[in-house]
Amino acid sequence: MTPTQRVPIELPNAKPLSAADPDSLFAMAAGSVSRACEVVGAPEYVRAILSQPKNELIVHFPVRRDDGSYEIFKGYRIQHNNALGPYKGGIRYHPEVSLDDVKALALWMTMKCALMRLPFGGAKGGVKVNPRDLSSNELMRLTRRFTSALGNHIGPDHDIPAPDVGTNAQIMDWMMDTYINTHTDGAHQGMVHVVTGKSVGCGGSEGREKATGQGICYVLSELLPELNLRMEKLRFSLLGFGNVGAFAAQALNAAGGKMVAVMDHVAALRNPDGLPTADLYQHVVKIGSIAGFKSAGTRAVSPEEFYRTPTDVFIPAALERMIDQQKASWLDCKVLAEGGNGPTTPAGAEILRQRGIAVLPAILCNAGGVTVSYLEWVQNKTGVHWDLQRVDSELQRTIVLTARRVRLAAHQHDTDLSTAAFGAALDHIADSYLRRGIFP
Ligand code: NAD
Repeated sequence: MTPTQRVPIELPNAKPLSAADPDSLFAMAAGSVSRACEVVGAPEYVRAILSQPKNELIVHFPVRRDDGSYEIFKGYRIQHNNALGPYKGGIRYHPEVSLDDVKALALWMTMKCALMRLPFGGAKGGVKVNPRDLSSNELMRLTRRFTSALGNHIGPDHDIPAPDVGTNAQIMDWMMDTYINTHTDGAHQGMVHVVTGKSVGCGGSEGREKATGQGICYVLSELLPELNLRMEKLRFSLLGFGNVGAFAAQALNAAGGKMVAVMDHVAALRNPDGLPTADLYQHVVKIGSIAGFKSAGTRAVSPEEFYRTPTDVFIPAALERMIDQQKASWLDCKVLAEGGNGPTTPAGAEILRQRGIAVLPAILCNAGGVTVSYLEWVQNKTGVHWDLQRVDSELQRTIVLTARRVRLAAHQHDTDLSTAAFGAALDHIADSYLRRGIFP
């Protein structure tokens, strides 16, 4: 048999498991995969394999608070699939982190890396904590203790964490340092690529911080003309002005777009002539929220007014499940570009479908972050440091090629862009399973 010949695999007893709670984020994520499997005709065993994560790790660990007391924290690491390469995915610090959510986020990472043709599988992790309640020293102790609890379950060629909601380059620097100092044999000493999204001083890549927001801009530039929208005149609104939202706003602004409304966890602002995105970012860096920002023509509005603001593109870049049935019916936009993961509830998604609002899926829109994480990993492994121009052009090339792949899949299967994106990811995973087989 030649190495390129495919061996069909039959697993007659492989029944996909379904999550019990139909409202669970994981059930929602698995549902998207199931629908895409049907549309692209992916083998049943692929759906079965992807219907649960490969490994689920839950840890409990104590952290000393500044007042000398101890508190126990709960952490997760879900390794969903590694058919295409080492597990890859962010670490979230948030009080509402749950097993179900982390499983969903890990599954989306599998699909995202496959869609982008990156040599990674999917993972996600988190700690149930509000990082705003901890001092910097407490945050460092929590991060180091969590990393040591993960032990050998992470590693530069095994499972590679990155930042997500509530974590940043500083947290990644502490994770990397802890990993290296708890793996003291010589073989591990240079392994800064155990995490990505580090600060540039610790081996991070140029352009990583803005990559996810920048990626949204590249996706829109490629796909909007087909939806009869132009970047130069684009009016957009943003839910969430954190890492993803703030950099997406600035990139879209630089490309000629106007941000006419924005909302975060504290306030909502509107300006029909466009908010100054760079000034707003500086305000958020200082204050921690968009609340209290002043500029000509900007006024504070209610959440309902925010959602009802007429725009071309609405970009949710906050937390999951924020666009429910009611908010989906308030939206006055032509396109919803998913900056954050799983921003709509299933009922919200159905309203968007009925109202003819095109949805650009998160596994494409927010893939800029993991793409530059991959570039960081490659630079670390090969001992080089690329300039921003090289990183940006690699990012743009990868995103534009992938956006075209999604558009082609949508035409081929006569389906929407979301299903097409999942389908294009599944094709790649299924192909790998067909070629390598299933052990033993
Ligand atoms: P972040 O913590 O930097 O920002 C989150 C934003 O959401 C903040 O502006 C916050 O005020 C806002 N927010 C939180 N709760 C809110 C509420 N109830 N109402 C309105 N706004 C609220 O997080 P981030 O890194 O920008 O991530 C946002 C989303 O993008 C998440 O779904 C994350 O998984 C996803 N994502 C992030 C990256 C990345 O590189 N950071 C990459 C891919 C996907």
